[in-house]
Amino acid sequence: MLKIENLHAEIDGKAILKGLSLHVPAGEVHAIMGPNGAGKSTLAHVLGGKPGYEVMQGSVDFRGSDLFDLDPHERAGAGLFLGFQYPVEIPGVSNVQFLREALNSQRKYRGEEPLSGGDFLKLAKEKAALLKLDMEMLKRQVNVGFSGGEKKRAEMVQMGILDPAFAVLDETDSGLDIDALRVVGEGINSIMRAPDKGVLLITHYQRLLDVVKPDKVSVLADGRIVQTGGPELALRLEEEGYDALVNERLADA
Ligand code: ADP
Ligand code: MG
Ligand code: MG
Repeated sequence: MLKIENLHAEIDGKAILKGLSLHVPAGEVHAIMGPNGAGKSTLAHVLGGKPGYEVMQGSVDFRGSDLFDLDPHERAGAGLFLGFQYPVEIPGVSNVQFLREALNSQRKYRGEEPLSGGDFLKLAKEKAALLKLDMEMLKRQVNVGFSGGEKKRAEMVQMGILDPAFAVLDETDSGLDIDALRVVGEGINSIMRAPDKGVLLITHYQRLLDVVKPDKVSVLADGRIVQTGGPELALRLEEEGYDALVNERLADA
């Protein structure tokens, strides 16, 4: 589903990703952990095609296509979803307008008919209920005046509506209280846990992984993957911190 090989990327001439390789087959949730500044958000931005990030070397195969041959909107149309660490506000545009526009532009890309207003609202209500987000929130401007937790839940409603094949979720748990964390985690399971889907779940905390149980856990440090293991690796990191493991691995490299 997602095959990253020897990826090198720069921002402003500064090397951030330094030979990162990672494979996520269909049906898997792969958690990425790692110290601040390791390049986790950079990886998410490079996969999404954010301007300013320059790919110097390496390749990314997404569902059989060269990801870098696709524009950001084509990546979304091909089934890639990005959840941001800091969701942006869009004053003047309601969530409902934004989501319907986004869904129908992706359907168009895939050669599908647009969803009618009625069918769209039905879908939006179903996903808002799943994330325990009041429909009134969806009538408001995108993220304007939303609390951190509301932004994250609205983003997961967006994911539910778009129904992507693959989601890259960057610190979706940041700023969530215990109850919101459970709702968001269960939303991720319900939307993305399927044999034909995949997730790259960037997080610092075991508490999200208690809800969204990863198949694999990788540690990203200094722009590359320094270790991959099962769910027990996250537990070990929670116990011991990143330093011991990362220093040991970078010294070996
Ligand atoms: P993480 O998400 O793992 O905490 P980031 O990917 O956000 O790390 O950042 C990786 C490195 O890239 C950091 O050293 C950060 O300072 C640097 N960086 C991120 N964005 C920019 C930018 N726009 N310009 C220059 N350096 C950046
Ligand atoms: Mg960070
Ligand atoms: Mg980050």
